[in-house]
Amino acid sequence: MSRVLARSAWRTSEIASRGCLQHSAIQFPFVSDPKRRNAFSTTSRLQLMDTTCFTETQLTVRSAVAQLCAQFPNTYWQAKDQNEEDPTDFHGALAQAGWLGIALPPELGGSGLGISEATMMMQTIAESGAGMAGAQSVHANVYATQPLARFGSKGQIEGTISRIISGEWRTCFGVTEPSTGLDTLRLRTVARKQDGNGGGGYSVSGQKIWITCAKVARKMMLLARTTPLEEIRKPSEGLSLFCIDLDESARGLEMRRIKKMGGRAVDANEVFFDNYKIPADMLVGEENQGFQAILHGMNAERCLLAGEALGLGYAALKKAAEYARERVVFQRPIGMNQGIAHPLADAYMQLEAAKLAAYHAARLYDDENNSNNDASKEEKKVRQHAIGVAANSAKYLAAEAAFRACERAVMTLGGMGYAVEYDVERWLRESLVPRIAPVSREMIMNYVGEKVLGLPRSY
Ligand SMILES: Cc1cc2nc3c(=O)[nH]c(=O)nc-3n(C[C@H](O)[C@H](O)[C@H](O)COP(=O)(O)OP(=O)(O)OC[C@H]3O[C@@H](n4cnc5c(N)ncnc54)[C@H](O)[C@@H]3O)c2cc1C
Repeated sequence: MSRVLARSAWRTSEIASRGCLQHSAIQFPFVSDPKRRNAFSTTSRLQLMDTTCFTETQLTVRSAVAQLCAQFPNTYWQAKDQNEEDPTDFHGALAQAGWLGIALPPELGGSGLGISEATMMMQTIAESGAGMAGAQSVHANVYATQPLARFGSKGQIEGTISRIISGEWRTCFGVTEPSTGLDTLRLRTVARKQDGNGGGGYSVSGQKIWITCAKVARKMMLLARTTPLEEIRKPSEGLSLFCIDLDESARGLEMRRIKKMGGRAVDANEVFFDNYKIPADMLVGEENQGFQAILHGMNAERCLLAGEALGLGYAALKKAAEYARERVVFQRPIGMNQGIAHPLADAYMQLEAAKLAAYHAARLYDDENNSNNDASKEEKKVRQHAIGVAANSAKYLAAEAAFRACERAVMTLGGMGYAVEYDVERWLRESLVPRIAPVSREMIMNYVGEKVLGLPRSY
């Protein structure tokens, strides 16, 4: 048995022993025969995505998460979207089953799995019909805990991570600002150090925007400036990462919910800080090195987003294909028309290609994380570059493929594509999110142009 398979087998038993497998009904016929395992997928054709070459652990995650999500049908998500209501019970169910710690080490209460499995979990959530809203209701809890686990102090880790995994607390990620946008290194929210007489700590002033789930979160991973822009040597310095309490009843904190196009179940907010006081021990890692800490999680987040986009795309395509088989107009199923069939076939191939890119990126990320640390500095740089290119490309490809699949699904359903009851209009609205956030498609193309093609930097 190869090293990878041996590891995944251990991980499967680990999930099982943690109870995450309690809902799983699927058997894995190829487990004891690695050669056959890599032959062809036995996935039912009712499930569109081809599952060849996924590890046993990934398939186990997919099956168990799908079964949990089945308790939250499309009507649940339609209502949450229409009423702009947080899916609190969905978040609670995932937490209760132990899924929020999927990519955290066992010593911190997590499952010890990787971003490959977390990506599969996020895809399965979106694909279940929950879409981006379902994914976003848990996304930050899976991703924002990564820099905390890596750079946080013992006290921060012990006091916070277990509560996030258990679902007692939720967290959000505070990076984007209205005046700096994608130019993150110029962000202006400041955290000023207070002298000892004032009790020490920091005073935060500034504004964040688009902060998902801030209204329901107890914690925010906040990126703020601790050294003025004019005094730093490198643009990536001078920012610090904090894990702060979000207490709207305290002085100096205000939030305003943004009305938005899709994913309306989860709140997105403007957050205003006006001399908001935070204790010194909320600093994560070293002062002024917060951007490095955030970078650690960015490639992982791109993989998760790619998975979420894929889930949305496959869900929409499945619905479109079902409709095209059944809807009869001019005395034949509309799917008999190539004008309907070809765009759907194209959408399928685009999704499958993006899927390969996404899980390739996640595997590179995990392999690097699991590798022993004796590589030279130069070697590490090369690997980080490869992971960055793969993760960004995957996010781009998956977002574009998902958008195309959702748009074609709406067109396939005709008038019914516009009806809430058929879900595809909700998914189309949500499919814009992975194209914009956490980094836009244009900035990914800038990145590939510069870092891969060696073209002059355009911004
Ligand atoms: C639903 C949703 C949820 C979000 N959740 C969070 C969250 O939880 N936490 C958080 O911190 N942020 C969040 N964001 C913010 C998101 O990460 C940003 O919206 C995104 O990074 C884009 O930034 P911006 O909106 O300021 O765009 P801008 O920077 O204003 O850019 C606007 C447009 O100009 C293009 N552009 C800018 N510069 C260039 C250039 N040099 N070359 C080519 N094109 C360029 C961009 O690609 C984009 O199309 C969320 C956003 C959305 C929509």
